[in-house]
Amino acid sequence: MNIIKNIAVIGSGTMGNGIAHVLAQFGYQVALIDISAPALEKALATITKNLDRQIAKGALTETDKTKALNNIKTHTKIEEGVKQADLVIEAATENVTIKLDIFKQLDALCAPNTILASNTSSISITKIASVTKRADKIIGMHFMNPVPVMKLVEVIRGYSTSDEVTMLIMDLSKKLEKIPVEVNDYPGFVANRILMPMINEAIYSLYEGVAGVAEIDTVMKLGMAHPMGPLQLADFIGLDVCLNILKVLHDGFGNPKYAPCPLLVNMVTAGHLGAKNGKGFYEYSPGSKDLVVAAGFRKKEALSL
Ligand code: NAD
Repeated sequence: MNIIKNIAVIGSGTMGNGIAHVLAQFGYQVALIDISAPALEKALATITKNLDRQIAKGALTETDKTKALNNIKTHTKIEEGVKQADLVIEAATENVTIKLDIFKQLDALCAPNTILASNTSSISITKIASVTKRADKIIGMHFMNPVPVMKLVEVIRGYSTSDEVTMLIMDLSKKLEKIPVEVNDYPGFVANRILMPMINEAIYSLYEGVAGVAEIDTVMKLGMAHPMGPLQLADFIGLDVCLNILKVLHDGFGNPKYAPCPLLVNMVTAGHLGAKNGKGFYEYSPGSKDLVVAAGFRKKEALSL
């Protein structure tokens, strides 16, 4: 079927710029599309900075960097960017209305053979496919953050995704030197179905006074060899994002075990969203992810571990 050469990436935020970076580095022609021109400018600056970091580590040369940057063209209009695409990877805001609207447009604009993938963390691939006339060519391609560093791609088969399309996306992931894992389309897929209940349970442990922030994270870091405790990880993911994914699990399974902890709901309502705005289970220096101190609760020197 398709030979994948031209790839459009929709959304140039945290994930979109990382996906464009990796595709361009491995020689694909990338149309990076965002409704926001400043977001596109910021994405190119981030990609340049991250390519420089790879050069400093000896992983890339200046020539590789120039080639990669030349492989990326930016667009603010979806119709300009997707016409030539053999594959579109959508990485726009995690909002079901936005995504369904984008996929309706893509279905109308793209050639019949074009594969349409979504990087969604939690929205049903089968639901996305239902607004198109090409359900066999709709698939989840869930990269992890930061994309240039993390090896996993969770490849999600919707109810009607074909074997051929799944194979092409598994194969592309390997060409990007990632490790793809095929999963079926149920709420949270595998990554978030397992991760989010763990984070929620850590928040419940704090809420019920079992232990403080630093103590909970230290137990999981030193006891389970996790590189980062669940509360700090929740801050990095974004507490609003964690809450939304837990709601998807709760609604999707109808099982009370996924009900978000009231403390998480309160923190999001109060505007404490984690590292992105400096306040979560920890506090962060403005504009950075450097952890300053565990917020409120019980502060212990274990933070420095
Ligand atoms: P983000 O907010 O950083 O970026 C989203 C971008 O999409 C913004 O630049 C916005 O302007 C753009 N956008 C919104 N509507 C658009 C439209 N109609 N057309 C084109 N561009 C549009 O979000 P993100 O963190 O990069 O997340 C993107 C997707 O990746 C989401 O589905 C999210 O669930 C998923 N994801 C995120 C992470 C993560 O750690 N951030 C990890 C895995 C998957």
